[in-house]
Amino acid sequence: MIIQATELSKVYGEGENRVVALDRASLAIAPGDLISIMGPSGSGKSTLLHLLSGLDRPTSGQLTYDGKDIYRLGDKELSAFRRRRIGFIFQQFHLLPVLTARENIIMPLLLDKKQPDQGYLEELAGMLGIGERLGHLPHELSGGQQQRVAIARALIAKPDVIFADEPTGNLDSRSGSEVMELLKQVGRELGKALVVITHDSRVAGMAARRLVMVDGVLTEVTAG
Ligand code: ADP
Ligand code: MG
Repeated sequence: MIIQATELSKVYGEGENRVVALDRASLAIAPGDLISIMGPSGSGKSTLLHLLSGLDRPTSGQLTYDGKDIYRLGDKELSAFRRRRIGFIFQQFHLLPVLTARENIIMPLLLDKKQPDQGYLEELAGMLGIGERLGHLPHELSGGQQQRVAIARALIAKPDVIFADEPTGNLDSRSGSEVMELLKQVGRELGKALVVITHDSRVAGMAARRLVMVDGVLTEVTAG
C-alpha cells in the first residue's frame, strides 16, 4: 500500500479571516515507513493528518491510496475506508469510559459489524503488555496503559497505516518514550506505516523519516 499526497492545501475562512492552514504539502508513504512530523502549535500538523486520513477534504490537491483517489469517495464510503484501512491514536486517548479495555479495543470492528479475532486481540494485548488489564475500565489504568489500549484499538482492524496525533503529549517523559518504543516495535512487527505528530524532539528522533511543518509548509529533513 502506497499513500501519495500531492500538493494538498487547506484554506479556512475568507477575507480577513482567511488562514492557509496547509500549503501544497506533498508526501509519499510506503509500507513500513516510520515518519515523524514536528512543528509549532498552529503550524498545520493536525490539518495535514486529517487530510491524509480522509477525516477532512482539502481545498485543493490529491490523495491516493494504491492509486485510488480517496476524496472521490462519498462520505459513507470514505468512513468505511477509514475504518478498514486506517488506525488513529490521539493525545487524549479517546477511550469510552464505561467500556472495559477489551470492549474499547474491539469497538472499531463492532462498528463495522465484524467479529473480533480473539487470537489477534490476545497477541496485540501481549505485545503491548496489557494482557492482564483487558477487563479494567479506563480510569483503572495509568495514562501509559490507556494509550496502549488505544494503540491496540488502532490496530485491531489490521489497517495499513496508523496516524498518531501527539500520542505522548499527555504522558510523562518516561511512559511517553515507552509508548513510542512500543508503537515503533508493533508497527515494525506487523508491517504498518506509522505517521506520528509530536512536539517532542526525542520522540521525533525515533523515526526514520523526519518532517517539519512551519506555517503550513511541510519539509522533509531526514539526514542522508
Ligand atoms: P497544529 O496541529 O499544528 O497545532 P492545526 O492544523 O490545528 O495546527 O491548525 C493550523 C491552522 O489552521 C491554525 O491557524 C488554526 O487556527 C487553523 N484552523 C484549524 N482548524 C480550523 C477550522 N476548523 N477553522 C478555522 N481555522 C482552523
Ligand atoms: Mg494539532
